Amino acid sequence: MTGTLGTSAINTRTTTSGLDLGPARHLVCRECGFSTPLAAEFACAECFGPLEVGYDFGRLTRPDIESGPLSIWRYRRLLPVPDDVDEHPNTQPGLTRLIRADRLAKALGVRRLWVKDDTGNPTHSFKDRVVAVALAAARQLGFRVLACPSTGNLANAVAAAAARAGWESVVLIPSSLERAKVLTTAVYDGALIAVDGTYDDVNRLATELAAEHEDWAFVNVNVRPYYAEGSKTLGYEVAEQLGWRLPDQIVVPIASGSQLTKVDKAFREFTELGLVQPLPYRVFGAQATGCSPVSAAFKAGRDVVVPVRPDTIARSLAIGAPADGPYALDAVRRTNGAIEDVTDAEVIEGIRLLARTEGIFTETAGGVTVACAKKLVGYGQLDPDAETVLLITGDGLKTLDAVEDHLGPQTTVPPNTKAIREALGS
Ligand SMILES: *Cc1c(COP(=O)(O)O)cnc(C)c1O
Ligand SMILES: [Zn+2]
Repeated sequence: MTGTLGTSAINTRTTTSGLDLGPARHLVCRECGFSTPLAAEFACAECFGPLEVGYDFGRLTRPDIESGPLSIWRYRRLLPVPDDVDEHPNTQPGLTRLIRADRLAKALGVRRLWVKDDTGNPTHSFKDRVVAVALAAARQLGFRVLACPSTGNLANAVAAAAARAGWESVVLIPSSLERAKVLTTAVYDGALIAVDGTYDDVNRLATELAAEHEDWAFVNVNVRPYYAEGSKTLGYEVAEQLGWRLPDQIVVPIASGSQLTKVDKAFREFTELGLVQPLPYRVFGAQATGCSPVSAAFKAGRDVVVPVRPDTIARSLAIGAPADGPYALDAVRRTNGAIEDVTDAEVIEGIRLLARTEGIFTETAGGVTVACAKKLVGYGQLDPDAETVLLITGDGLKTLDAVEDHLGPQTTVPPNTKAIREALGS
């Protein structure tokens, strides 16, 4: 650990008078609509509801976007970041590949399937997108320390982004986190602290710390409204990469539920801006049964998401009290989608199915998405004739412990050709 982190109780943040957050105009409460100036705030002063960024986009054309950088910054005029965002050191995430997945489509029994492969980001998960936007906004808001509570991927993304920007970082993780995710965070040499407790305990601790350390930008706490907007870029990219069209159906994994709501928001914005034709797209959610509070609420027809204590190998999705759960429910219901959940055994089968059909090794969250898609097709909820996109949000190399008991060489033989022939059974 370096620098002044332990001692800085005073607020060293500069004033935000020269604030330039591009098209962002104010923060709006998602519950009561109360509007407040752009600042490092996340809860409504009137009703305590969550705040969201409100914009004035002006006119934006497809060529404006197409001529932009080969990263999420091509969408900067739709994000709470200044126009020169890419001139500051950042990890330049995004523009990951969207691949036509014919072999997986056949296995699932659907006609036209695409996989958005977000393992291709700088730290191998979609979290680089949200962190890049949080960092850019935090820089404008006068912060110089990047912090987070994390289930793993966010830890990687925050530590790496801070290193690249020359900022200090403070990352809090549950002590049970996968070894790979600990090592791939520690290597960036920020402050990394394991906490004895669940992610929800770590998250509560972060909220307390954010109140004490006003100069720490907790990406998913005090700058969450800006951070969350980064997830829209997944939706924008899918539409642009499909040739400026929306898909009929999209399956999104749910942890806090933020990503799902922002993909829906991205599709609505592109439609409202006239960048794509209107289409009655449907948004589907995916959870692991061992942490499925949003799926349970959906299936029971409830609006209230009852917190659970997570018990699943899909640790990147293991948020027992999902902040955006109710909004994810809204988006799914409004678009005539559904939410499904799958067992850990199905998660591993999902990982293996994607690997053997498309050559993509995803982490447990991707296994959840693939396995839920399979179940949703089986139940007739996903239309097999409609064009479908699966969001694969993280890399299997970070969750090797989930599969290590299931995979390995079929046999070990002496070094001669006869033994190989026998082993191959020919
Ligand atoms: C964080 C995460 C998600 C979901 O994020 P939310 O926006 O919190 O729902 C999905 N996949 C992976 C791999 C993640 O790390
Ligand atoms: Zn409010």
